[in-house]
Amino acid sequence: MRYLSTRGGAERPGFCDILLEGLAPDGGLYLPEYYPKLDTQALESLRATYNTRGYAALAFEILSLYIDDIPKTDLKAICDKTYTQAVFGSPEITPLRACGEGVFVQALSNGPTLAFKDMAMQLLGNLFEYELARRGEELNILGATSGDTGSAAEYAMRGKKGIRVFMTSPNGRMSAFQQAQMFSLTDENIFNIAIEGVFDDCQDIVKAVSSDLVFKKRFKIGTVNSINWARLLAQVVYYFAGYFQAQKLFAPSAVSARVSFSVPSGNFGNVCAGHVARMMGLPIEQLVVATNENDVLDEFFKTGVYRVRNSASTFETSSPSMDISKASNFERFVFDLLARDGQATRALFEQGVAQDGYFDLSGHEAFKTQFAHFGFVSGKSTHAERLKTIASTLQAHDQLIDPHTADGLKVGREHLRPGGVMVVLETALPIKFSDTILEAVGQAPPRPAGFDGIEERPKRVIVMPANTQQVKDFMTEKCAL
Ligand SMILES: *Cc1c(COP(=O)(O)O)cnc(C)c1O
Repeated sequence: MRYLSTRGGAERPGFCDILLEGLAPDGGLYLPEYYPKLDTQALESLRATYNTRGYAALAFEILSLYIDDIPKTDLKAICDKTYTQAVFGSPEITPLRACGEGVFVQALSNGPTLAFKDMAMQLLGNLFEYELARRGEELNILGATSGDTGSAAEYAMRGKKGIRVFMTSPNGRMSAFQQAQMFSLTDENIFNIAIEGVFDDCQDIVKAVSSDLVFKKRFKIGTVNSINWARLLAQVVYYFAGYFQAQKLFAPSAVSARVSFSVPSGNFGNVCAGHVARMMGLPIEQLVVATNENDVLDEFFKTGVYRVRNSASTFETSSPSMDISKASNFERFVFDLLARDGQATRALFEQGVAQDGYFDLSGHEAFKTQFAHFGFVSGKSTHAERLKTIASTLQAHDQLIDPHTADGLKVGREHLRPGGVMVVLETALPIKFSDTILEAVGQAPPRPAGFDGIEERPKRVIVMPANTQQVKDFMTEKCAL
């Protein structure tokens, strides 16, 4: 399998080369040259694999379709080492639970940092370690996080040989628990940089540093943001696991129930993995894009206009990991929507987004027929609705859900069709956002074992203005040590 850029560049690297890179040299995002198509027989074979040999075996089968430059025995060992009950808390790894008629919540947040990002990041840590050792190379990871990516990356990379992590985050905008998770790490290869700005400022710095090709090469800069294809690929696996489980639980005799997924969305990485699963032939009915008050994606799917917001118009909400006004993975979907026309995609993002701040596909045939081909629908959820959903879910189903999952549940229910099944992806555990939980239900969420008192531990972080050069200087200094 070779990979291509959404902006039409000519290179066709293999998996292990893009594993260690971020953006393509032309500024685009990597996608596989084609999506391997699974016929009914192949799908049934994957179902049997999952049912009899479990999640790690399923992951290996799916990853093998996209990775041909790692020997199969090694790739299998990496999957087996990553997706264990010890790390993810249950033999199913991503178990489903019922939450009302036709509605399920798929638990993706029982890894080390209690958010779904562990699902991909734990795999990435093991892939990086493997590939760097094989090449005898080092890597400096530069990332941007609004909370969960950063801690998931740091917990996946801590103590790994040949890897340093430089993680930028918007100063003061993460929950106390999230800050404590990241800043309390004392591993010498982990550096926390709090930027005076919002998440998009952090993301812009990462993009600016990565597009300085001389600096990038000299310091072997890599990324772990959701633009990394390997992360997206890891996330494809749980759509299959969710689909198989939903059919089993909902209609054990007839595996015909139409399954939709509702995905709390920010950077469009999670739901883009659902898009890839659907393109491979997983019979997903609707892909529900759920946003919070930062509704740039909801606006696009409703109107065809993609209008990014600046920092000042990005709301600080009670589902903060979705406070994003420029969705970095969205370009991947637009590329597919435009029948993989790299020049057209480049024009939309270089002229439209970068210069005009928007593009409008409302008159485009591809947008008008989007649902038939790609199945996307959308909706948004506000603070009041979030609180109401958390409270009613506790009352009616005796389940405490986090604010992001609540957005997914609220919007997912709105799109549930008679006789259909809606799987809502649980993107974090409530403990990460206890202020909002307290506000919603008047009680603090339970704290999982091992997290007692982390807010009181010493913090290891440097605060900086939103200035690319200062970040570069800091990295230069630390890499020289
Ligand atoms: C990252 C994150 C999201 C958004 O996921 P994207 O892949 O960026 O769309 C939603 N909820 C939580 C809790 C997250 O950490």
